[in-house]
Amino acid sequence: MLALTRYKNNRSWNRWVLSFYWVLSALVLILAESIHLISGGLKEWSRSYIFPPQYFMTAASLISALLIAEAFIRYLKSYFDYVLIIIGYVFAMVIMLGFGKNIDGLYVSLDVPIIVSLFYLSRRRLWFSVLLTLGSLFLFLMVSDSIRAQINHYDLIALLGMIIGTAIIGVGILKRGTELRQSLERAVSSEIEAFIDSVSTQSASKYDHLTSLYNHITYQEYLTALTEQHAAYDMPLQLAALDIDNFKSINDRFGHHVGDTILQETALMLKSSISSEDIAARYGGEEFVLLLTGKTMEESCRLLERIRERLASTEFPQLAGQRVTISIGLAEYSEELGKSALFKLADGYLYDAKRAGKNRVVSPLQRGGSSG
Ligand code: GH3
Ligand code: MG
Ligand code: MG
Repeated sequence: MLALTRYKNNRSWNRWVLSFYWVLSALVLILAESIHLISGGLKEWSRSYIFPPQYFMTAASLISALLIAEAFIRYLKSYFDYVLIIIGYVFAMVIMLGFGKNIDGLYVSLDVPIIVSLFYLSRRRLWFSVLLTLGSLFLFLMVSDSIRAQINHYDLIALLGMIIGTAIIGVGILKRGTELRQSLERAVSSEIEAFIDSVSTQSASKYDHLTSLYNHITYQEYLTALTEQHAAYDMPLQLAALDIDNFKSINDRFGHHVGDTILQETALMLKSSISSEDIAARYGGEEFVLLLTGKTMEESCRLLERIRERLASTEFPQLAGQRVTISIGLAEYSEELGKSALFKLADGYLYDAKRAGKNRVVSPLQRGGSSG
């Protein structure tokens, strides 16, 4: 089955959450100022009354926390979710300590990190935020005399109850979210399979006559269709370009007919190594392409490594001990990249694999670059 939300990568959510914090900061600052002006600041029109006490300190703390987050969002890829949850807690802290130091504010602000953690539909992030919130409650009690003075035993029990209550509701939301995600994944998965089936039951002109894989034209059709699925569901899509190493020497040594058999066997092996949501096609000559869906770059790389090893360790009786190896270039599709640049990219990696000595997989992962 496809895994969509793993890829609907948290990064786009992170951008969203960070923008939400900016809006929230602006709102808090505007509200604090409005309330201050309405409740008396205007009457006593002197400079010191235009803004509430600690206004600039609070604004500066919020803005610097957000600017630090902006600086990190590009570099801290997988841990940025946690940074944003921590910022939720810093927010609660700054707003509470900046304005009022009021116990009522605690009830509102302590839930912010837990609510933010729910965006990620991840239990680990939920429990992290619950622990952080409990920790921050005790920190409040330690640093703020005024809050400590206002809090009695009942408040403490109510606050703990609220945090635990929110956590339990959070677990429920995660459970529901996971169910929804799984049913969406099942729906997309069967849609893609049905689509692939519908094409494959059509005319024989869809196939390459020698290998029975899809031919070049069908590959192009699938690529277009799958890029549409990518746009609709954020389904991950990768293209692998594969080229048999030193194939000319097999033809030269054992004859064209044996070469044909090797092409057929390689094609069979490719077909049996991929899932029903992936596409294998003969690009031309001794070159193949795979369209891989619903996998991370790491997973696709591992799959291609298995294919490479499987072929390299296969003994072909016709070849008198000579092994067949394959070089592979793998690239990830994105809308910014586009279809034709995707093939060029994968082909470039394939060329790198050949230059580096053949019988290997090259992708942005090996190159130390980003997988996009
Ligand atoms: P490299 O490792 O750099 O890929 O070397 P190579 O020998 O595999 O590549 P080259 O492009 O020099 O040769 C590819 C050969 O594949 C030449 C061509 O005759 C052969 N070929 C292409 N299509 C077929 C086919 O359908 N059947 C057979 N038997 N050979 C084919
Ligand atoms: Mg070639
Ligand atoms: Mg070749």
